Amino acid sequence: MTFFLIDNDMTKISPPSIIALDGPAASGKSTLGNKLANSLGYLFFDTGIMYRAITWIALQHDMDLRNEVMITELAQKAQIDIRPPSKNDGRPCDVLIGDKDVTWDMRGGDVDANVSVVSAYAGVRKALSEQQRRIGLRGKVVMVGRDIGTVVLPEADLKVYLDASAEERARRRYDELIARGEKSNYEEILKKVIERDRIDSTRAVAPLRPADDAIIIDSDQMDAEQVFVRVLELCK
Ligand code: C5P
Repeated sequence: MTFFLIDNDMTKISPPSIIALDGPAASGKSTLGNKLANSLGYLFFDTGIMYRAITWIALQHDMDLRNEVMITELAQKAQIDIRPPSKNDGRPCDVLIGDKDVTWDMRGGDVDANVSVVSAYAGVRKALSEQQRRIGLRGKVVMVGRDIGTVVLPEADLKVYLDASAEERARRRYDELIARGEKSNYEEILKKVIERDRIDSTRAVAPLRPADDAIIIDSDQMDAEQVFVRVLELCK
């Protein structure tokens, strides 16, 4: 596996251009990916946003989430806009559907509880992952998701699979919600995290799993900064 790309003048070592960052729910991928992209001057692309946005629209319109044909059509047509952050409230970007800012709405409990059903549909995955691949192949990108190293960008120069126990991930998600001033229940979050992992890793299409050439980092005993330093070392 090659981590270093040599520039034309053969004197300078560049970091990997396409970085794939996968892992289960709430494993810290977005925090790490955002920080890494900022420090390398790369595009940060959190693909979970796309699956969440489709789920949010479907819920808003009371669509039957079991209707695969209808949800697939929605994924093919939906206009999801991602822009630089307009507010300093911890968001890495603005997510807009039409004129509506749904950045935090699509992180709500109802989307959490339903997104894995939507993202298991082959047609939804095809529509969204084609767009992800097109953007990723431009390079200088940190792309975060479940299947980036295995399906979306198997040619990625660096693949990291960020893991942590379900309990630790639920605790982090709980702390995050409390910090945002939202009501939260640890046991409920833990149940949802485990259920989301179960659906994501057992689905027929692009299940959650580390690519054969991914570097697996277990962050149970590491804080966000330690994980960042470790991955930055891998880049350099
Ligand atoms: O990463 P995040 O928790 O925001 O992702 C939400 C959901 O979107 C995941 O639980 C998964 O079902 C789906 N997803 C996916 N493939 C990706 C990114 C997200 O299936 N590449």
